[in-house]
Amino acid sequence: MRVAVYHDNSDIRIEERDIPAVGFGEVLVRVRASGICGSDVMEWYRVPKAPIVLGHEVAGDIAEVGEGVDEWCVGDRVVVSHHVPCDECHYCATGSHTACHTLHSTNFDPGGFSEYVRVPPLQTSKGVLRLPDDVTYEEGSFVEPLGCVVRAQMRAGVRAGSTVLVIGSGISGLLHIRLAVALGAGRVLATDVNPYRLDWARRAGADAAFDAAAAGERLPGLVREANGGCLVDLVMLCTGAPSAIAQGLACLDSGATFVFFAPPPPGEPYPMPMAELWRREITVRTAYGAAPADLAAALDLIATRRVRVDDFVTHRLPLERIAEGFGLVARAEESVKVVVEP
Ligand SMILES: [Zn+2]
Ligand SMILES: [Zn+2]
Repeated sequence: MRVAVYHDNSDIRIEERDIPAVGFGEVLVRVRASGICGSDVMEWYRVPKAPIVLGHEVAGDIAEVGEGVDEWCVGDRVVVSHHVPCDECHYCATGSHTACHTLHSTNFDPGGFSEYVRVPPLQTSKGVLRLPDDVTYEEGSFVEPLGCVVRAQMRAGVRAGSTVLVIGSGISGLLHIRLAVALGAGRVLATDVNPYRLDWARRAGADAAFDAAAAGERLPGLVREANGGCLVDLVMLCTGAPSAIAQGLACLDSGATFVFFAPPPPGEPYPMPMAELWRREITVRTAYGAAPADLAAALDLIATRRVRVDDFVTHRLPLERIAEGFGLVARAEESVKVVVEP
């Protein structure tokens, strides 16, 4: 089978490998759609693990079923998750499934940018979701990224009537916009520095989208104008740029919640105005990854068409052209979602 081996954003090599042998309790999945994630091009995160086969937004068909697996048959259409929690540890027991050590150390073999993946027993037993007939593989590849967004919004308490500001309108920001709208948010506002993405933010359902660079320190004023004179209840930070953090903080109403959906790079601490946040009882929190319940919720949102995702796919590429795809995502200019079809 062919796999794409990542070295860095501009060095991805197609190699030939043996199809992994399937053991007890495992399945083999023929990958049909595999999304390139913003985190795949974060070199500080990925290069230390290279050479590696990336790809964790995967939909495909069951191609082989190992002994001891009763729930799946060859030909079943599925979404596979790379990380699953143990459901037994302290973190799982308290709802922090994505802090679970098992979740952080599980993966499939070799990775989604490959013709086939071997799904180990733990993921086979709790990380495989059945794709309804009318959900395409491509839509299925959004279950993981939307699952992360679901987790963030559930934990941050986005609900009907909330006002939400999404900072950064790449694919994760756009999914945040769509989900907030689906949850009945009162106003959804967005920023970006790229006109192409601002246009997409409006198309995704944002009530207003602001050019963050042009707005600068005037952003809170623009937000008030678009939001009945008020600042916002929630900020979803979907870019790690320090200037974006500052802008987001400046737009928080008292009692609001700020979510680091994307982090600034490690070793770049950000000074938080703690006394101010304390006095106005502002919550700062993070959201990492998705747990099985988040993925199930994401699939349901996609299958019931409450969150539309198919229109976000701007590029479809065969595995041989994956380097082009990484270039598009890394440059973040005129692409939204790039899906590889191995
Ligand atoms: Zn991802
Ligand atoms: Zn656990």
